[in-house]
Amino acid sequence: MRKTVDIIGIPIDSVTMNEAVEKVRGFLSEDRVHTIYTPNAEIMMDAYRNSDFKGILTSADLLVPDGAGVVLASKILGVKLPEKVAGIDLTRNTFSINENRKIKYYFFGGQPGVAETAAQNLIKVYPHIEIVGCSDGYFDKDKEKEIIQRINSSGADMLLVALGGQKQEKWIHTHKKELKVKVCIGVGGSLDVFAGKATLAPEFFRKNGLEWLYRLYKEPWRFKRMLKLPEFILLIIAVKLKLKKI
Ligand code: UDP
Repeated sequence: MRKTVDIIGIPIDSVTMNEAVEKVRGFLSEDRVHTIYTPNAEIMMDAYRNSDFKGILTSADLLVPDGAGVVLASKILGVKLPEKVAGIDLTRNTFSINENRKIKYYFFGGQPGVAETAAQNLIKVYPHIEIVGCSDGYFDKDKEKEIIQRINSSGADMLLVALGGQKQEKWIHTHKKELKVKVCIGVGGSLDVFAGKATLAPEFFRKNGLEWLYRLYKEPWRFKRMLKLPEFILLIIAVKLKLKKI
């Protein structure tokens, strides 16, 4: 049974990181495509404003809070999620799922070469995973069928889709029925981090829910997009005070 908490009409799974990893293990043993999305405050605001996108998030098999903002929202609403389950950490933790066979990954997204570099780096640290294919995330629409064919013929169990927020969830949702993998997860900029092209915020920022501050410092041009975080928290406060009905 799935235990979820409702945050502005979006059912976020109330799971710890370990429980989320166990869910992925379960998904890998079932013969169908499962979808995992990891919304942060920005994505939650996008879903609030776009009902189709909200429907996509709601249809996920596992929906975990990527950002401290979503966990804070759950506290304000009194439905308290156990902890942040960041997409990059969840993905990394799946590399250590100990099955009797090697789990096969396909990396899809990022600038040309990024997925391959990420694969080379990861295989050194996690020799018991297999990375069976890579495709970059800058493709013409008419190449899409070819990419799906490559993913399917690779025999991948798990597809990491790194096309950025909204684009990756929409891509997975649109093509889910054509895919033969067991798990599709939207991983944002994770391949850039695995490839060493981007860095995560230092531990202090990550532990204290201040990644947004670090990101603002590193990528100040994101300022406008990042305003969705305070906007999200204000919306949650308004919902809590019953000033707004969802
Ligand atoms: N990306 C991509 N194709 C696109 C747009 C973005 O492959 O058409 C990749 C981009 O190279 C980066 C990742 O998506 O590796 C995440 O992008 P961004 O940081 O903008 O998204 P976020 O995760 O913050 O939403």
